Amino acid sequence: MPIEKADLVAHFTRRFGEPPRWVVRAPGRVNLIGEHTDYNDGFVLPMAIDRAVWIALRPRNDRTVAVYSADYDETSEFSLDTLQRGKAGWVEYLKGTAWSLQQGGHRLVGWEGVLAGDVPLGAGLSSSAAVEMATARALAVAGLLDWKPAAMAKLGQRAENQWVGVNCGIMDQLISAAGRADHALLIDCRSLALTPVPLPSGVAVVVLDTSTRRGLIDSAYNERRGQCEAAARQFGVPALRDVTFAEFQRSAKSLDEVTRRRARHVITENERTVRAAEVMRRGDAAELGRLMAESHRSLRDDYEVSSKALDVMVECATAHEGCLGARMTGAGFGGCAMALVRAEAAQDFAAKTATAYERKTGNKPAVYVCRATNGAEVV
Ligand code: ADP
Ligand code: MG
Repeated sequence: MPIEKADLVAHFTRRFGEPPRWVVRAPGRVNLIGEHTDYNDGFVLPMAIDRAVWIALRPRNDRTVAVYSADYDETSEFSLDTLQRGKAGWVEYLKGTAWSLQQGGHRLVGWEGVLAGDVPLGAGLSSSAAVEMATARALAVAGLLDWKPAAMAKLGQRAENQWVGVNCGIMDQLISAAGRADHALLIDCRSLALTPVPLPSGVAVVVLDTSTRRGLIDSAYNERRGQCEAAARQFGVPALRDVTFAEFQRSAKSLDEVTRRRARHVITENERTVRAAEVMRRGDAAELGRLMAESHRSLRDDYEVSSKALDVMVECATAHEGCLGARMTGAGFGGCAMALVRAEAAQDFAAKTATAYERKTGNKPAVYVCRATNGAEVV
């Protein structure tokens, strides 16, 4: 059951005996196209989804933040004056965000409230960024701070990098902070320029969780990054973002075979992502789907970050007549695929794809039909 504002208000009122002063939400996300392009200074095209982390709160007149997590059934509190890292857990995302905002020069005030979310944890929809941006939104509304989405996203990323210790890029926090209903956001990972791009009408985005997870992803990820840097050096540019496909074709011979394929993925994926934004502006859903299918083949064959489960999921999805295109999404080796589907076929697509996938793999998938929503907001 998706969470709504009324749920948070009711929960808060039960605990505190009065309604909350504010309710905020910050969404999870799915990336439509542009995979493994972020650390090459390239383009990504995520959308904020209608699954979010919510906080209902009221101000306190001391410098304490006290939060009840409905999902963990646990209350945690901390002082804004004596922030210290504790043992890993959900409250570290809140503490880290408070720490980061203070590092960024913001004056914060205490508050208390209820936190609840419906972004599945660890599924690749970035529940952690949703917690960070919901916390930032709560701190901002209580402390009367200006809400500048991009600046807040950078502080959220810093919390995740430096407090929680997860080395993520900027995409997840940026889309959670700055998403727009019915739009995806084209992000230039070099300049951080944001361009909202309308979703074509009559389509749904369906997230297909393979229910498989890969532990040893870090080494493969670092290896890919190294190969991309080596390729950029050979081309004599700061990042693969600076190489066009035509240039690649002219001088690819000087690269060894593996590096050539890695570079080809990044270079073509960047071009596909920019093109995806163009065709979306024209409302061309069929072409958008085709680009997604191409993205998957490139990730599977050139970048080699797919998996059997992801490939099977994409095959099952593509076999449905309502599907315009499907691909793995996220870093790969497990996790989620996504599909662009004709809206009227979405429910049938979800049911049939799940059944087909389960029959072929024995894994029970989770399927989420998603709408594009606003980024972090007071509701
Ligand atoms: P994801 O891919 O979903 O971002 P992470 O491992 O990065 O996975 O983040 C998941 C963590 O974020 C959880 O272990 C928890 O600490 C925190 N978190 C996410 N959603 C919630 C929630 N609804 N309530 C409390 N903490 C949450
Ligand atoms: Mg995360």
